[in-house]
Amino acid sequence: MKRGGRALKLFLGVAIVAFGLVRYFGSQEENPYTGRTQAISLSTEEEIAIGLQNAPIMADQHGGMHPDQQLQDFVAQVGKKLVDNTIAQETPYPYEFHLLRDPKTVNAFALPGGQIFITYALMERLETEDQLAGILGHEIGHVVGRHAAERIAQSELANTVATGAQVGADAGILASQLGQTVLLKNGRGDELESDDLGVKFMLEAGYDPEAMIAVMHILKAASGRQHVPEFQSSHPDPENRIQKIKEAIERYRGN
Ligand SMILES: [Zn+2]
Repeated sequence: MKRGGRALKLFLGVAIVAFGLVRYFGSQEENPYTGRTQAISLSTEEEIAIGLQNAPIMADQHGGMHPDQQLQDFVAQVGKKLVDNTIAQETPYPYEFHLLRDPKTVNAFALPGGQIFITYALMERLETEDQLAGILGHEIGHVVGRHAAERIAQSELANTVATGAQVGADAGILASQLGQTVLLKNGRGDELESDDLGVKFMLEAGYDPEAMIAVMHILKAASGRQHVPEFQSSHPDPENRIQKIKEAIERYRGN
């Protein structure tokens, strides 16, 4: 009887994990803008709604919007130029670009659905419009690449796998390792894809893509003194990123 109970638990655990995997891989679709196949469980409408819902919360965490309307307009104008001249224009997302008041945290980030932010601490370190375009291009890349929606699908899978692991204790170790590997691998890939798309968007919008390399150096210098959450945290090392950016510039210039 006891033995049977263990077998049943293991069976249920494996079944839950299998269900999660089938759902995850069943939600694979090709991103029409990047050509990459990814697992997505949200509709574009849901992405936009999540972004709009969280925008004020994120803004509050960074001291709200910067009061200088001219600077706000400038950020919006560079963002619009990037959107209007690239494939971003064909996506269903209503892009909005915001300058946050935060004078301390060097950061830029994108919420799903097109809400894009840069802090004043990062803005004041930039020397040229092209560098700002590099940052915004990278963030537009996260939106077009649907990276947040992809992470949500991945964490749903990881949660299901964790549940399965708890139910079927014996299958647990393997299952939880699988969940983590999937999560970590894609985090790094997101950043490289966004750098790559950022370079492409910059060229298409008439910006100098070499400015993206300057941005990397600015971020690297800033991270020596303080925390740089979005651009640095789970990222591939900066030298590797710069090498990939150089390759992307060569590749897209050749076309
Ligand atoms: Zn990023």
